[in-house]
Amino acid sequence: MTTKSLNPETIALHGGSYRKDESTNAVAVPIYQTTSYQFNSQEHASNLFSLKELGNIYTRIMNPTTSVLEERIAQLEGGLAAVAVSSGQAASAFAIQNLCQAGDNIVSSTDLYGGTWNQFENTFKKLGIEVRFADPEDPITFVKLSDEKTRAFYAETLPNPKLNVFPIEEVATLGKELGIPLIVDNTAAPITCKPIKYGAAIVVHSLTKWIGGHGTSIGGIIVDGGNFDWTKKPQRQPNFNQPEPSYWGWVLGNVVPEVLGANITFAVRTRFVLLRDLGSALSPINAFNFIQGLETLPIRFKKHQDNAEKVAKYLKDKKNVIRVIHPKYQYDIYKKRAEKYMEDGFGPLVGFELEGGIEAGKKFIDNLELIYHVANIGDARTLAIHPASTTHSQLSSEDQLRAGVTPGYIRLSVGIEHIDDIINDIDQAINKLENKVKNEVA
Ligand code: PLP
Repeated sequence: MTTKSLNPETIALHGGSYRKDESTNAVAVPIYQTTSYQFNSQEHASNLFSLKELGNIYTRIMNPTTSVLEERIAQLEGGLAAVAVSSGQAASAFAIQNLCQAGDNIVSSTDLYGGTWNQFENTFKKLGIEVRFADPEDPITFVKLSDEKTRAFYAETLPNPKLNVFPIEEVATLGKELGIPLIVDNTAAPITCKPIKYGAAIVVHSLTKWIGGHGTSIGGIIVDGGNFDWTKKPQRQPNFNQPEPSYWGWVLGNVVPEVLGANITFAVRTRFVLLRDLGSALSPINAFNFIQGLETLPIRFKKHQDNAEKVAKYLKDKKNVIRVIHPKYQYDIYKKRAEKYMEDGFGPLVGFELEGGIEAGKKFIDNLELIYHVANIGDARTLAIHPASTTHSQLSSEDQLRAGVTPGYIRLSVGIEHIDDIINDIDQAINKLENKVKNEVA
């Protein structure tokens, strides 16, 4: 079947080469809960190890259930190949470690998920990989902060809490000139944003969020866009242009496209060097859970986005709400970026600022009856958190403000419940704040 021109709803169900299980004709993707694979012959085994043939060797490196997930997500993102890993954190770490060694650096947007920030600022620093932080408002700062040891630019499509869409094409274009690929974390904007189309070389996702969709499994994935020339500026990308000691001194940037007939060098090195050496493999049962989530992602995501827009609209008119943060209601350059990059909806996240500061924020959370109070995003259920007293509480008030966290700020990951029930819960939680103020005055 030619699947190239299929739409997301169809790719989610049929993408990639899996049609049925060849031995049983099963339609649902089986969970291949196995560590190892019997080789057909000595020659077959040798071919697999020397990458003359691609096939299953050991589940730390590949697995047939996981492969179906990888093919479908690669196709959804418009990439050539993908490698699934054990978490979103592992996906960002591997994407960078695939390019960097001690002494190298990357330039990243300041607007990042807190876990990624810690990984970059603390753990990578200890490994000798420096992360320099650039202002996403001004794409040229990525270039200004780079030097001859810069191996990648990094950003999130829709970082929360600010929800300012990242200028993907602008930064990818600047990077390409210098031989620097752009890696984009597209966790919060699957389906609606396609970073590879705008020049990103690599896309990463936390599968844990909307792709899994039900809050049951942790996983991540790295998509190789197949659109970056790793050999054009050989000094810039040593991992692809110098002999790889663990593969007979091959220069991967030349050998992979030659042997496998496709520019999937980044994915191949992630799998055959990093998964092999550092582990972080996704378990087959979690791959199965993500395949289930993926099957309904396009319709779920539409509903998440529709509900988020309606919640944002309701909040705009609500007394006690000082400010609403949602890409549709951004201004100036941010509005233009949202309209350009979010092609099929403005995402499932909404932020708002309550009058009454930190106390109002905390009280609002306690007043909720239906909406869950959790640190996660991307569940089918609506989730809320008050960052100033939780996720961002260790930051100084100046750093909180820099991160977009004001004292009364609430983050909502809007779910797929009936919209009236979501809004009613928010409404009663805000009204109770107002009643409390009235009672105190009286
Ligand atoms: N990237 C983003 C944007 C996230 O929100 C998260 C987690 O919240 C991660 C990466 C890390 O993903 P995981 O929790 O699967 O490791």
